[in-house]
Amino acid sequence: MTPQDNLTIASPLKAPRFQPEKMLLQTPACKFEPAQAEKPELTADQALQKLIAGNKRFINQQSTHPNHLTRLEEVAQKQTPFATILGCSDSRVPLEVIFDQGLGDLFVIRVAGNIVTPTELASIEYGTSILQTKVLLVLGHGCCGAVGAALNSGHLMGQMNTLIDSIQPAIARSARQPGDRLENAVRENVFLQMEKLKESPLITRLLNEKQIKLAGGYFDLKTGKVSIFNVLTSHTSTIRVNRLYAF
Ligand SMILES: [Zn+2]
Repeated sequence: MTPQDNLTIASPLKAPRFQPEKMLLQTPACKFEPAQAEKPELTADQALQKLIAGNKRFINQQSTHPNHLTRLEEVAQKQTPFATILGCSDSRVPLEVIFDQGLGDLFVIRVAGNIVTPTELASIEYGTSILQTKVLLVLGHGCCGAVGAALNSGHLMGQMNTLIDSIQPAIARSARQPGDRLENAVRENVFLQMEKLKESPLITRLLNEKQIKLAGGYFDLKTGKVSIFNVLTSHTSTIRVNRLYAF
């Protein structure tokens, strides 16, 4: 069995043959080569540790800004990121900066409130299955305006209420928790979005085959520290474990 055979999309029906060359989003000038061919053999835990190590450099003001312009030529024709991260659009949470990573390191999906809708899920499935990132991180953050708006049950203009609707169940879950209401709601929203990710048959398959780990995190705007508060190894693991994962 080849490595790509392991990535056949899960389905209760007969699964189609996995054909990444037909699925990659690329211009004709960007030749497809299997990402796995030259990818360093990082485990999911090592990928998480790499993120945490980068965050430690960031909070200690020792960022090395790895893989910036010097790597541009290397990654111009293909990318081999090691992590897929769903984060908030908030301007204070730039993921490459807070994890001290560079070009080609992170496959990033940013949307207000770090919510999972079909559009975000499509990108996440691409990052985890096609690009074969080892870790999938959902990152909430302190003082999140989207979660705060859902907490205040305000009516917003235009399409912005769709964000509120996606976050609202987390507000209800966190209503009776002791401590800071917004911080609790942000954490519950991360759990909620992780649960939505597990509704994806493709994500579930990757978890079951231990090709990826799904993790939740919280970025503290006051300290710059990212806390990883749960790490899943399979779809049967419980998500709502509110404890820090120590590295
Ligand atoms: Zn936010």
